[in-house]
Amino acid sequence: MKPSDRLSRIPPYLFAEIERKIAAKKAAGIDVISLGIGDPDRPTPALIVQAMQEAVTEPETHRYPSNRGRADFRQALSDFYVRRFDVEIDPDSEVMLAIGAKEAIFNLNLAFLDPGDCALASDPGYPVYTGGPLLVGADPVVMSLVPDLGFVPDLDSIDNATARRAKLMYLNCPNNPTGAIVPDGFFARAIEFAREHDILIVHDNAYSETTYDGYRAPSFLQTPGAKDVGLEVFSLSKPYNMTGWRCAAVLGNAEAIEHYWRLKTNIDSGLFDAVQLAGMAALSPDADAEVASMNALYTRRRDMVCEALSKAGVRVTPPKGTIYVWAPIPPGFDSSAAYCEHVLDEAAVVISPGSAYGPSGEGWFRISLTTPDDRLAEAVQRLAKLGER
Ligand SMILES: *Cc1c(COP(=O)(O)O)cnc(C)c1O
Repeated sequence: MKPSDRLSRIPPYLFAEIERKIAAKKAAGIDVISLGIGDPDRPTPALIVQAMQEAVTEPETHRYPSNRGRADFRQALSDFYVRRFDVEIDPDSEVMLAIGAKEAIFNLNLAFLDPGDCALASDPGYPVYTGGPLLVGADPVVMSLVPDLGFVPDLDSIDNATARRAKLMYLNCPNNPTGAIVPDGFFARAIEFAREHDILIVHDNAYSETTYDGYRAPSFLQTPGAKDVGLEVFSLSKPYNMTGWRCAAVLGNAEAIEHYWRLKTNIDSGLFDAVQLAGMAALSPDADAEVASMNALYTRRRDMVCEALSKAGVRVTPPKGTIYVWAPIPPGFDSSAAYCEHVLDEAAVVISPGSAYGPSGEGWFRISLTTPDDRLAEAVQRLAKLGER
């Protein structure tokens, strides 16, 4: 059976070999610890689960939801944006629900790209920034995140022909996988660039609530002019341990929201009303303490990981946000994949090669902080020992 040409454009899965190796080790009885996946290990906070339990017993939640989302949930998102970012969002025209950020990011490609168009994608980055454009027959063009600029792209290095062809630009701060936060003035420069070249910016805001050391991440939308040229995708997945619930929203430019809405009415039938009611509980101030306690937990884990990596001879900067530690591979290894394979072979610990997130990730690796404390401590001990040899 031959899949569509568009599906054939997606590059083959690079890490099948590593996955085979993990499976073989496990089958041989070796205790493999995975620090590869970014998926919170702690349960969804009880107040959110309770809101869901109550909502699900109400028969009116059992019917088709409205595609745009419940008015009360859109209002709750608007209230949250005022409370948290001091950003005014019109709940009727400037917000639309998504079945997770991944859905929104993929479908925005369908809504805004034609064959021949391109999307500028942060590199390294969330794989949908490049896979999405490919699947809709357009071209992803990667923008390297430059360590010396604080892991943001050098917009001046984008040539004119590319800028003319570009319809979308994907940004993400705090950033997966680098853990970097937005440098001062960067969003303003991106807005200027988008205005000049008529590009829609899509800011993937998966991590504004997951920050450390007193740092509070801004929303892209609080930069003056952002709503003229951009959208923000806000996801409840990571801050509220809700990855399985599929609850996110797209906020910002009203015209872009209108197009996304029209597309979505042809694709899906919205987000389960009970999930929306649970989402309202998550966004209420009552859940703030839950987020703070998760962030305290990740801070402790981050410090434990960074200390072990330093002992293993890795130069690492503790991130101020996200659930990842990003670090350069130590000297003596040819590639990210070679280092990660070495760590798997010698320590039975799975870490992610930076090259999995795009060409600019080569030479780096990522550790996720979403493994239970005792397992993470064990993994970290193995890593430290590896460095002592
Ligand atoms: C986890 C993650 C997502 C996916 O969010 P969902 O709402 O669960 O689909 C999107 N972008 C980034 C950068 C992520 O790390």
